[in-house]
Amino acid sequence: MKVLVINAGSSSIKYQLFEMPEQKVLAKGVLEKIGEENSVLSHKTDDKTVQFTQPIQNHELGMQLITKILTDPKIGVIKNIAEISAVGHRVVHGGEKFTGSCLITKEVIDAIQEYADLAPLHNPPNLTGIKAATAILPNIPQVAAFDTAFHQTMPKYAYIYGIPYEYYEKYKVRRYGFHGTSHRYVARRAAVLLGKNKTEANIITCHLGNGCSITAVLAGNSVDNSMGLTPLEGLVMGTRAGDIDPGLIFYLAERLQLSIPQITQILNKKSGLLGISGISNDVRNLLEEADKGNERAKLAIDVFCYRVKKYIGAYMAVLGRTDAIVFTGGIGENATSLREKICDNLDWFGIILDRELNAKTQRIEQCISAPESRVKVFVIPTDEEARIAFDTCEIATKLNNKKI
Ligand code: ADP
Repeated sequence: MKVLVINAGSSSIKYQLFEMPEQKVLAKGVLEKIGEENSVLSHKTDDKTVQFTQPIQNHELGMQLITKILTDPKIGVIKNIAEISAVGHRVVHGGEKFTGSCLITKEVIDAIQEYADLAPLHNPPNLTGIKAATAILPNIPQVAAFDTAFHQTMPKYAYIYGIPYEYYEKYKVRRYGFHGTSHRYVARRAAVLLGKNKTEANIITCHLGNGCSITAVLAGNSVDNSMGLTPLEGLVMGTRAGDIDPGLIFYLAERLQLSIPQITQILNKKSGLLGISGISNDVRNLLEEADKGNERAKLAIDVFCYRVKKYIGAYMAVLGRTDAIVFTGGIGENATSLREKICDNLDWFGIILDRELNAKTQRIEQCISAPESRVKVFVIPTDEEARIAFDTCEIATKLNNKKI
């Protein structure tokens, strides 16, 4: 079965075509700058990468271009779009309604629309992607995989904020948690590597990419995640602030006469590693600058690692017995010196890194803790698209079996 996985942003569509159940990627790519004169499509197959620049006005035309490339006689990987059996969509906010991936129906679309209020930057473009894919591939199952779904097992005391309860009752203001597809995927892989059933494994998963979050997984279920009502809470990220004193917002508003949109922009786009360093949101640049002696680059890295370490300690207290810590995402998979800094001086917690092995490990699945470490430390490259393809394949297969 061929499954197309779509991750639609406001001006981009990322896609991967999978052969399932083998999880083989036949082709993948990204269409960027939708709505501009110079939209760019980069398309990759096993043996080549091609790039096209042409104006693409909207997501539906973008989907048309993507399916055209996938079926192109020269560079395509399928002959006809009818070979695609199902489409899986990444959807950021599923509110309290969705505890797993599901077939997209009118009710599901309405719910995604309803939660757009809570994820204004993500849910509307996700919906646009769903509509564009449905317009081009109308007769096959379209499946939604929600970033929030894995975290719906959080206990109430972990997701209720210390504010008047009526805001939860009336407006569903609570912690939701994000990056669920990634946390679930690496937690399942870690259980396999531990040789345990998923329900026997207690794991802390650190997704450190441009966005960063950390999850406490107790007996296979998410019981806490550092992101909250929105993906702004928790760890220090590329450009997002993470945890701050809410009082800081009022201070900035009054002292600098800043508006809510201005403060939103500062906390989402101008903070984090970029804000502290004043140089870059990219750890690679910061490491280079820190090496040259730049104090602010060094400080940004220190703040980042300290926050991750603090959350690991907190989540160990939440879990009690902790079997493993997982690093994933662009930073988690690659930034060896940051992993070392985060795990430094945690011997007393039973976390001892094999420094040499850690220094050698990038972008591969590997245990990087020393043999005597009570808590195993793993690097596990995340694969959100494969997980979405898996769920989509499962739902489409069940649907087909029902029809038969
Ligand atoms: P996203 O959250 O957008 O999916 P990624 O998970 O790809 O992002 O993470 C991107 C970040 O990973 C980059 O901004 C960079 O900070 C970090 N990164 C990628 N490669 C390396 C590397 N070799 N060394 C250190 N950091 C890296």
